[in-house]
Amino acid sequence: MEIPGYLPREQLQALLERLQQQGYRCVGPRVREGAMVYDDINHADQLAVGYTQTQEPGHYRLKAGSTVRQFAWANGPQALKPLTFAPREELWCAQEQPDGSLKFHPAATDYEPVAVIGVRACDLAALRLQEQHFLDSCADPQFAVRRRSLFLIAVNCTHPAQTCFCASTGDGPEVDQDCDLSLYETDEGFFVSAVSPAGQQLALTLPLEHGDAELFKQACAEVTRAGEAQVRRVPAKNLRDSLFAQLDHPRWKEVAERCLSCGNCTQVCPTCFCHSETSVPSVDGHQTTHQRQWDSCFSPGHSYIHGITLRKETEQRYRQWLTHKFGSWHDQYGRSGCVGCGRCISWCPVGIDPTEELDVICTDVTGRPE
Ligand code: SF4
Ligand code: SF4
Repeated sequence: MEIPGYLPREQLQALLERLQQQGYRCVGPRVREGAMVYDDINHADQLAVGYTQTQEPGHYRLKAGSTVRQFAWANGPQALKPLTFAPREELWCAQEQPDGSLKFHPAATDYEPVAVIGVRACDLAALRLQEQHFLDSCADPQFAVRRRSLFLIAVNCTHPAQTCFCASTGDGPEVDQDCDLSLYETDEGFFVSAVSPAGQQLALTLPLEHGDAELFKQACAEVTRAGEAQVRRVPAKNLRDSLFAQLDHPRWKEVAERCLSCGNCTQVCPTCFCHSETSVPSVDGHQTTHQRQWDSCFSPGHSYIHGITLRKETEQRYRQWLTHKFGSWHDQYGRSGCVGCGRCISWCPVGIDPTEELDVICTDVTGRPE
């Protein structure tokens, strides 16, 4: 086995400097309002240090000072999604001309390059799903430019949350592809593997030391244990037929008695791509800006067509979310729409857990979960 080069923790600043020299705005994990979020970092000292976390249904708490590491947490409420699919943005604007005609202008797409440090395997898998939607299906220019502008430094996950189930979806916790650099964290530093040609170029400029084989073996074993420690799971098979055979299951009504239709689950989900579009006229009435913003299958407007809201009841909305995510997503994109990050479980205010709902709804005639 080839042992990757080793970057001592005090040299992390060298990595940031190389990225900044190449014109990247650097983004990494920082603590904001009690949560780990991606935010701008100008110096390695600004990266969060020493945090672990507890996540359970409807519960997320950071704990400071319990480790010397910088990436000993699984994930926060954000994924990469806001960096490629903006929560709100302009798509185009139309201006009235002196002769009364309209001139249309597409929104600018000259985004700055962004380097993200601390990306997780589940979020890379989610990014691949978003690429299928925004690039392969829609050819979305905003998404395309932002995706091309990203340099991704992934960190293999060693501290899964109680809510994680990426091992059962096949999306983590080990990073294997679709990033530029992949790091294994140890107490003193990082093993650095180059994944893309851009990552190889950057790695050549880093002050890497010779990696210790035994230490690397331990680092890999930590990631394997992180997968084995996950307590939640979803069935590995395509659940489309099982779910569509259960559209009248009484559980939909039961879950709707708890569900608030708040849409938190869809906002934190790294794969959800639903959005609404609005035209905003200028005060003088001579210009209209066309905007797109994140929407949710839990919002009343999401199923409003020709004066009718098709999914009036929460029961219908929850069923839409689960049957699309784990069922009809297979028809659209060849796999499920869930990468097992567990965010929808932690950030649901009433702790609804799709792994539990699937276990109940997709139980076969013998009574065993499929
Ligand atoms: S459905 Fe839940 S666990 Fe799956 S990717 Fe979305 S937020 Fe993560
Ligand atoms: S499942 Fe939870 S997060 Fe999602 S809409 Fe219902 S209450 Fe909100």
